[in-house]
Amino acid sequence: MPSFRSVTLQLKRRLGAKVVLTDAAALFAASFDSSKISFPPVAVIKPRKEADIGVALALANRHHVPVTVRGRGTTLMGSAAPVRGGWVIDMMALNRISIDPEAGMAHVQCGAKVADIQRAAEAKGWFYPPDPSSKEYCTIGGNIACNAGGMHGGKYGVTRDFIIALRGFLASGEYVEWGTATKKFSAGFNLRDLWIGSEGMLGVVTGAVLKLIPQPAARWTLLTSYRDEAAAMRAALALFRQRVQPAICEFLDRESVVCAERATQTTVFPGQAGRPVILLELAGGVAELRELKPLVLAWAKNHAVAFREAKSRAEAETLWAVRRKCSGAMFELGDAKLNEDIVVPMRSYLKFIRFLSGLKRRSGLPIPTFGHVADGNLHVNIMYHRANRAEAKAAEAAVNELMRTVVALGGAISGEHGIGLAKTPFLRVQHRAAQVKAMRAVKDALDPHGILNPGKMFEPVRIWKYPKMTIHLPWDHK
Ligand SMILES: Cc1cc2nc3c(=O)[nH]c(=O)nc-3n(C[C@H](O)[C@H](O)[C@H](O)COP(=O)(O)OP(=O)(O)OC[C@H]3O[C@@H](n4cnc5c(N)ncnc54)[C@H](O)[C@@H]3O)c2cc1C
Repeated sequence: MPSFRSVTLQLKRRLGAKVVLTDAAALFAASFDSSKISFPPVAVIKPRKEADIGVALALANRHHVPVTVRGRGTTLMGSAAPVRGGWVIDMMALNRISIDPEAGMAHVQCGAKVADIQRAAEAKGWFYPPDPSSKEYCTIGGNIACNAGGMHGGKYGVTRDFIIALRGFLASGEYVEWGTATKKFSAGFNLRDLWIGSEGMLGVVTGAVLKLIPQPAARWTLLTSYRDEAAAMRAALALFRQRVQPAICEFLDRESVVCAERATQTTVFPGQAGRPVILLELAGGVAELRELKPLVLAWAKNHAVAFREAKSRAEAETLWAVRRKCSGAMFELGDAKLNEDIVVPMRSYLKFIRFLSGLKRRSGLPIPTFGHVADGNLHVNIMYHRANRAEAKAAEAAVNELMRTVVALGGAISGEHGIGLAKTPFLRVQHRAAQVKAMRAVKDALDPHGILNPGKMFEPVRIWKYPKMTIHLPWDHK
C-alpha cells in the first residue's frame, strides 16, 4: 500500500498537526467500521472547519490519494473502512444544528448526530422522522451517504425524503451547493439526489438543510401476536388494505422474539412466548387517532391470537426497547452474522415467508428475521459460527440464494444499508450491465481519479472471508 508520505506532510503543513493525525491510536480508530474489518489509513483528518476538507481533497486529487469519509463508523457494510489506505476524513466535529421554526427546516453540519437533530427539532415542536436504530451514534452525513431508513419508513419515508439541500466538496476540492433552503428548486440537474445514497463515492457532504414536519400530537402503541409468520403477514396486508398507515409497524419472527426475550430477560408478550409479533404505533392528531383506534382494535381481534395496548408512554417504551435489542441479541445463536436488509414488495410477502422457512430448513442455520413490514424492508440475519466450515459454507450459499430470490420477487438487495463492501457480490444480481455501466460513468465524471472511497460498490469482495476484529463497540449488545 503506498505511504503517501510527502503529500501527507504537505497536508500537515497546510492544516496543522491537530487536524492531520498520524499517530497509531488515531490510525487504528479510523481503520474499521461496524463490519469490524481493519484496513489502516496513513492519516486521519479531523477538520475544524468545512474549508479544511476542500484543501485536503484538492491535494488528494492532485496526488491520487484515496480518501474515505467517516461519520461514526456504524455502517455494517464496510463502507467506511479505508480498504485502499490513504486518508480518512472524520466528520464528527462538524456537528452544528440550528432549527428554523418558521420554515420547518433544520440546518445541520454533517457530523451532527441524528438523535440530537431529532431532539433539537422536538424542542421547537417539529419532527425529523428518519429513525435508524443507531441514531444515538450515527451522523446525518452517514445517513445521507447511505440513504438511511429505520422504523418510520412506511409512513414517512427515508432520509432522501427529508433532504432539501446539500453542500460540500467535489473530489477536486471545489465547493458546491445542491439546492437552497427553499421548498421549491428546479434549477438544473438534480445532483443533490445523486449524492444521497452515494456512500461517499461522489462527493463529501459537509452540511444539509432538512425538511421537518409538525410533531404528532398523539401516539398509540399496540402489540399483536400471531399463530405463525404467514398469519402475521396476512394481517399486515389486511391493515394496509384499509389504508391505515402506522407510523411504525415492526414484525419479529419467532426466532427474533426468542432472541429478544433472552436478551431482555422478559417475555415479549406474556402468555404468548415465542410467537411472531407485529408491534405498531399510530401517530397523528388526537381526533385522527380517536377515529383510527377502534378500526385497528377490530383488525387485531380478527387477525391476531392476542393483542395488548400500551397504557402509557413508559409501557410503550419498554415494548420498543425489546424490538431495539433483538438484533444484538442474535449473537446467542452464532458468533457471525450476515445481516441482510433486503426489501420485498408487499405482493410477495407470503411467497417470501414461505421461501424463508425453506431457507432455514435447507441451510440448517438460524435465520432470525425482523423488520419494517410497512415498507417491506426486512432484516434477514443468517447466523453461524465462523470457525465451523460447514456452517460458513451454508451461510454463503444461503445469502446467495436469498439475494437472487429477493430480486426475482421484484425486491432489492438493500433498503437502507447500501452496498459498501458487503453487498458488492450482489450488485450485478440487482442491476443489469447497462445500469452498472451508467453508475460507473457518473463516478468517472465526478471523481475522474477515483480517489473517493475506492474499492467499494463495483469490485466484488467476499467480506465474510476476512478475519474480524474482536472489539466491543458502544452499540454492540455484548
Ligand atoms: C446497531 C445498529 C443499528 C442500525 N440501525 C440502522 C437502521 O435502523 N437503519 C439504517 O438505515 N441503518 C442502520 N444502521 C446502519 C448505520 O447506522 C447507518 O448506515 C448510518 O447511516 C451510518 O452513519 P455513520 O455516521 O455511522 O456513517 P459511517 O458508518 O461512518 O459511514 C457510512 C458511509 O457514509 C459515508 N459518509 C459518512 N459521512 C459522510 C459525509 N459527510 N459525506 C460523504 N460520505 C459520508 C462513508 O464514507 C460510508 O460510505 C445500524 C447500524 C448499527 C450498528
